[in-house]
Amino acid sequence: MAWIEGLRGVILDVDGTLLDGDAAVPGAAEAVSRLRARRIPFRFVTNTTRRPRVAVAEALSRAGIPAEDAALEYAAGVEAEVIGKPSRAFYEMSLVDLGCEAKDVLVVGDDVENDCVGGAMAGCRTALVRTGKFESPALARSGAAPDLLLDSVADLL
Ligand SMILES: [Mg+2]
Repeated sequence: MAWIEGLRGVILDVDGTLLDGDAAVPGAAEAVSRLRARRIPFRFVTNTTRRPRVAVAEALSRAGIPAEDAALEYAAGVEAEVIGKPSRAFYEMSLVDLGCEAKDVLVVGDDVENDCVGGAMAGCRTALVRTGKFESPALARSGAAPDLLLDSVADLL
């Protein structure tokens, strides 16, 4: 199991990282439980504008990943004000909410541009998971160097 010493917070992408469609990525619920057990604060984030916040929370809950004690953040509202993606302002908003310094926070996601490049621009450490939209060519093209490359979120800790 991979882990980075000194982490004080985790930002977890939802679509493609915790959920595959409406089903949990195998081991995702257990990984979230381990974060809770270690008292590592975390936030769920999603870029999706296709379904309302409550629907994302319900999908997580149905998949065995209760969302009530981890704020569900949306990038969409910030993206409307920020040119281009990934949105550094979005991550900075999540960091304020977590109460952590960027260098102590790990962003976990399946999208190398939004999650890894975006997270790194905000000063966070990053973990790329090989689920969801992950593609090796996209990783190579991006020039990004995630701190962790994981088969799935189940390998986080
Ligand atoms: Mg994703």
